[in-house]
Amino acid sequence: MVYYFKPFSAFSAFISSIVLSILISASVLAQDIEIQEIGDRMAVISGTGTNILVKQSANGEVMMIDGGLEEYSRQTLDAIGDLLSENWGNEQAMITLLINTHWHPEQTGLNDFLGTSGATIFAHENTRQWLTTPISRPWENSTFEPLPTSSQPGETFYHYGEMGHGGTTVQYGYLRQAHTDGDMYVYFPDENVLHGGGVIANDGWPLMDWWTGGWIGGLATGLEVLLEMVDDDTVIVPANGPLMNKSDLQAMRDMYATIFQRISGGFRAANSIDDTLSDEPTAEFNDQYGDPEAFIRRSHESLIPHYTPDA
Ligand SMILES: [Zn+2]
Repeated sequence: MVYYFKPFSAFSAFISSIVLSILISASVLAQDIEIQEIGDRMAVISGTGTNILVKQSANGEVMMIDGGLEEYSRQTLDAIGDLLSENWGNEQAMITLLINTHWHPEQTGLNDFLGTSGATIFAHENTRQWLTTPISRPWENSTFEPLPTSSQPGETFYHYGEMGHGGTTVQYGYLRQAHTDGDMYVYFPDENVLHGGGVIANDGWPLMDWWTGGWIGGLATGLEVLLEMVDDDTVIVPANGPLMNKSDLQAMRDMYATIFQRISGGFRAANSIDDTLSDEPTAEFNDQYGDPEAFIRRSHESLIPHYTPDA
């Protein structure tokens, strides 16, 4: 069984004439959801915890890259329903593929719903494994419970590959230890659209989730890998924040390479976390990215397993 869109909200009428790249704020929804069309039956939905990429393939089937937070499931599905009924003209469409770019709740909030509806859930193998076990982060008081088996990724990969989805070519690859240790990108060669997953955060400092295998050096390397994949026309979808182009990504890569050099240099000089904070390794970027303290702390901590041999 798969999830069909049929009963749409009356809000659909508000979204009746979207043209390419016009931003729409569907303020009638409880959560402030934004829908941005970026190609032929391809759109980004924002406001549910992450940037969700939705693509309807030539055979009518729908795929999603990340699902948003579970608490916004209804709004997310309504937004997709609006796109399908009002813009893409296919009310009988079904979601048959969900890709989780990593294990975080912002990516996996629709796994329960779509997993039990029969959609294929695809992710890196490390992402699947994190979703099978409770996770308690040492820096905060919260525990993430494992997902039921039917909600876990049923198909996984290790390195990279390509798949077809109803006429759409989908390329994907592993970004190694970066934001977590299960990060992946998804690239649509025909549309020249890249979803960079959690490795690209464009609305502030990212969570440097070393507890599940991320680290600041890997984040810089992951951005380097993505930069080599794009050209001047590539539409780059970050996990959060506005869409990007190649020069945006280049600036981000340069920034994290600089920050990595500073924090790792201090770490190797036996700096404490307080020393690292007072060195202000992100100083010239804080106006754009905000208060860096949590990011610097997690980044410093993330070096321990990489630079301390017996850790
Ligand atoms: Zn994340």
